[in-house]
Amino acid sequence: MYEAHLYTKGENNNVTCSLCNHRCVIKEGKQGICGVRHNIGGILYAMTYRKISAEAVDPIEKKPLFHYLPGTLSYSLGSIGCNFHCQHCQNWHISRTSFKDASLRDLAPEEGVRRALASGSASISWTYNEPSIWHEYPLAMGKLARSKGLGTVYVTNGYITEEGLRELSPMLGAYRVDIKAFTEDFYKKVCGAHLQPVLDSAALAKDLGMHVETVTLVIPGLNDSMEEQTALIRWVIEHLGPSTPMHFSAFHPDYKMTDRGATPVATLEKIYNKAKELGLRYPYVGNVWDSGYENTYCPACGAMLIERQGFTSLMRDLDGEQCGNCGEKIEIVRHVR
Ligand code: SF4
Repeated sequence: MYEAHLYTKGENNNVTCSLCNHRCVIKEGKQGICGVRHNIGGILYAMTYRKISAEAVDPIEKKPLFHYLPGTLSYSLGSIGCNFHCQHCQNWHISRTSFKDASLRDLAPEEGVRRALASGSASISWTYNEPSIWHEYPLAMGKLARSKGLGTVYVTNGYITEEGLRELSPMLGAYRVDIKAFTEDFYKKVCGAHLQPVLDSAALAKDLGMHVETVTLVIPGLNDSMEEQTALIRWVIEHLGPSTPMHFSAFHPDYKMTDRGATPVATLEKIYNKAKELGLRYPYVGNVWDSGYENTYCPACGAMLIERQGFTSLMRDLDGEQCGNCGEKIEIVRHVR
């Protein structure tokens, strides 16, 4: 068992975890909302340290992450548990499972880095379930990964606290954060969480020098109004900058949310066009087959810089980190810094 970081001891062997913004007070013998941090005898343990449920070598575009090491592979790991309880979770078989039912394997941080390098990957991604609740393990592996020249990626719901994110920041290169909606009501009812901490973590990640991309799953009847999406885009432009890649993805019925259909392509096209109109340089539409909205275009001259077909990226008019046609600087990370 591995003792957790970021907690304080209280009376009667209670502990308070400050890793995510639930800030759970956990009684002896109990666990936090995420299900993977247990209070045993007044000490908080990170129960999934070295425990993996999924391992794959993915194109980094699958995260989706379009402006961080594009066209490369990312060695990807997941475990179990989540601090959100989203009704439309697409990975519920690992996010909502228990230790009893889960199939977990042991993987040392050093071995993970060795496997990433052997696979030809340019980065390691902690993904599939929420990585922030796994904190100590990605932290240990990530430090080692960076020393070997690998990039590092979180695919996250953004609920980590300032303390947690600051501890990660020396090792974390890319913060691919879901902004699931732009209303407190959605976060409360659908996810069992709050909106503001997610926005705060995205802004802090940016301030700490991480590459940030956002993803919003557009769900009919829940967060698909142009008013809400416009407010979200304006917030991103103001707080994360107009060069932040934003992905607007189509919803497909899943888990406990099967009471509505998939997002119409026309809705996503309207949001994409609004983002452009407001000055966002790199909007994308996802989960829609062959739309052309996943390509990267030069915001100045419109030249196609990267063409994407499925998860294959074809470098077209991109010259290093500038447009090969007009010379415009393109905000994209081609090499690990
Ligand atoms: S990570 Fe979040 S949900 Fe889990 S115990 Fe800590 S505060 Fe609670």
